[in-house]
Amino acid sequence: MARHKTRTSAALLAARTREAANAPPLVDVIRGTLLRYRLTCGNPDCRCHRSRRRRHGPYWYIGVSYAKGRQRRYLLPAGQVPQAKRGITAYKKLWEKLCRISELNLQILKNQG
Ligand SMILES: [Zn+2]
Repeated sequence: MARHKTRTSAALLAARTREAANAPPLVDVIRGTLLRYRLTCGNPDCRCHRSRRRRHGPYWYIGVSYAKGRQRRYLLPAGQVPQAKRGITAYKKLWEKLCRISELNLQILKNQG
């Protein structure tokens, strides 16, 4: 059976080198989702109970999922939101990059066989 070599081994190795070269900094990564809430308080006379637009906040959290459907939320001071966004973006980019490098490595393995 003919093997389909859509890319040469040299091209695959070059693509892998490029992928590995411009990875986001590992030290920045945050696995989670940024959550933004506006909330009502426990005081029924407060303005926040009269209109949805007058609720308190926004409050920012990072939501993180763990095994067995467990989730945790970390309250985030507003000043840390940009740093959190960078970390979450770095995580996503790094993860996508890992998936692409893994696919390239599978192709490289197939070409070696
Ligand atoms: Zn209130």
